[in-house]
Parts: sequence; C-alpha cells; structure tokens
Amino acid sequence: MPAIVDLSHEIFEDMPSLIKGAPVKTWMLHTHDKPQIWDKGLPPTEWHQLQKDGKEPFMSHDTMMLLLSDHVGTHVDAPSHTCPRTKPHGETIDEIPLERLWMLDAVLLDMKYKKKHDPILVTDFEKAEEEAGVEVKPGTMVIVNTGNYVNFDKNPVEYIQMRIHLTQESADWLVSKKITAFGMDSVNFDTHGLPDVSEQRRMHSLTVVGHPVHETLLCQNGILHVEGLNLRDLEETGKTRFKFCALPLKIRGGSGSPVRAIAIVD
Ligand SMILES: [Zn+2]
Ligand SMILES: [Zn+2]
Repeated sequence: MPAIVDLSHEIFEDMPSLIKGAPVKTWMLHTHDKPQIWDKGLPPTEWHQLQKDGKEPFMSHDTMMLLLSDHVGTHVDAPSHTCPRTKPHGETIDEIPLERLWMLDAVLLDMKYKKKHDPILVTDFEKAEEEAGVEVKPGTMVIVNTGNYVNFDKNPVEYIQMRIHLTQESADWLVSKKITAFGMDSVNFDTHGLPDVSEQRRMHSLTVVGHPVHETLLCQNGILHVEGLNLRDLEETGKTRFKFCALPLKIRGGSGSPVRAIAIVD
C-alpha cells in the first residue's frame, strides 16, 4: 500500500528566509474571541432586535494574514526567477504545466558528509548513486540530502549560510543524464557569493555576478528545481526510490512558489 511522506517545512513567523530583508510575518486578522456583526450595514437598533428575536447577528472566524516572498521554505523556482523571458525558458510560476512536478520518478542521494560551503562534485553523484543502489536514468528527478534540513529548526542562521552547492561540472552532469527535475534539502545551492568562487572570479577578472547553476538547469534546459525540502520523514523510511509530487500556487507572474512537496513510497 503506497504511503504519502511529507517533504515540506512549516510556514511560520520569522522562519528562515533566504531573501534578505524579506522576513516572514503572520498575524491573525480575525479570531473567534472577537465576533463580528455579519452585516456591517445593519444599524445597532436592528441587530439588537435580531438578538431579542433569538437570531444571532454575530459571526466569528479565524483568518490568518501572511506576508512572505515567493521563495520561502519548501519552494519551487519558476524559470523567470533567474532567466529573462528572452531565454528559451522564462516562464513565470503560473505558466508551468503541472505535469512537470507531478508523479516524477525520483531518487534520493545521500551527501550528508558534505560540510559548510562544500561543492558537490560529479564524483559525489556517482558515489551516491552506487551507495543508494540507484541509477540516474533519463527522466529521473534527483534529490540530494545534505542533512541541512535539520538546521531549519535547530539553527536557522546556519541553514541559510550552509551553501553546499553544485559546481558547473555537476550541473552539466545532471543535464547530460537528462533528469526531469532537481531537488535539495538546502537553499541557495548556486555558486554566487561563495568565498572560493569569488576568488576564482577575481583571478579571472570576472565581474558579472550570475547564477551559473540556475542558468544551466533552469534557463538552458528547463529543469525545474525544488529547494528547501524537508527530508526527515523520507530518511526514516529508508527509501531511495519513490514518486515525487509538488504543486505550486497559481501566483500571477510569480517567480516561484511555496509547495507542499510529497513523496509516494511503496
Ligand atoms: Zn528560490
Ligand atoms: Zn533558486
């Protein structure tokens, strides 16, 4: 009997946020302890009469307000996040066909030995494939477990700063394997701003700050990626092969969206 495993983090006030200057805020707009008159236009004399007649003029409900970026928590990037519309792939989140993140054949690759700022090399992928007893075949979604999902609750600052990242070579390797999508428990797995990368850029007198991994996966090859996966429950199952599903919100012109990501395991 297949089981659904949740791969998503909770959304809550001041949760770890990748986008600088965009903290997540939540507040209650309505609560049950403050009932409202259901018809605001009703004069007090009339709702007093309604009460006298035994009719309830009040209603109460909980409504929460959310203030968040479209790259918060467990989320998918729309190609338009880093790819101009002139590129072959530049869709906004509402333009992405739902099939692209639905019932994908996915594999989980363990790279928990990686440390802060470590690059993920092609050899890491090959080793992890062997250890997991899986093969990254064409049509596969690859999900990397760096163990950073633990920091989401335990050490939010470290969670954002971990920056275990793909190299250009490993992004090219994923493309050569013809994967359908890429996922990771970390956020910010591109190379921009990393000390070693900045050094390389300085040595080669490069001044352009780009997103080479996003450029390769998203812009040139249309490979969607899901960031900030919560892999705790999936790890507990010990499964390395499963179906992956995630549906983005239909945000008009959105550059990404939080998703409720799930694995379906046998
Ligand atoms: Zn993002
Ligand atoms: Zn991204």
